[in-house]
Amino acid sequence: MSDKPMSTSRRDAVKVMLGTAAAIPVINLVGFGTARAEVPANAVAANDPTAIALKYNADATQSDRAAAARPGLPPEEQHCANCQFHLPDVAGATEEWHGCSLFPGKLINVNGWCASWTLKAG
Ligand code: SF4
Repeated sequence: MSDKPMSTSRRDAVKVMLGTAAAIPVINLVGFGTARAEVPANAVAANDPTAIALKYNADATQSDRAAAARPGLPPEEQHCANCQFHLPDVAGATEEWHGCSLFPGKLINVNGWCASWTLKAG
């Protein structure tokens, strides 16, 4: 390596790189902890046999709602929160995770969807 002193701009660039590298693990830890805290342990898993059979997805926008052609609302407006089988007051429910008659003992995302979606009466 050269004995010449580093130029100011090069020194600044090295500082930015070191600062960024140090921040990445902190960002990952924060993101990881948040994601784990948001999904309850008894949330319906992607590999749940009933979820697979009913094409359940915790994110309705990832579901092929148009292909299911359920009557009552346009496909893009169909999600668990306005479904007849939605159970908002089950044990362990949070603002985002509620129960569903078709998934006893488990929690579904209010923004999810499955092929059994039925417009909530009333
Ligand atoms: S039946 Fe309704 S509430 Fe239950 S997962 Fe399907 S769309 Fe959601």
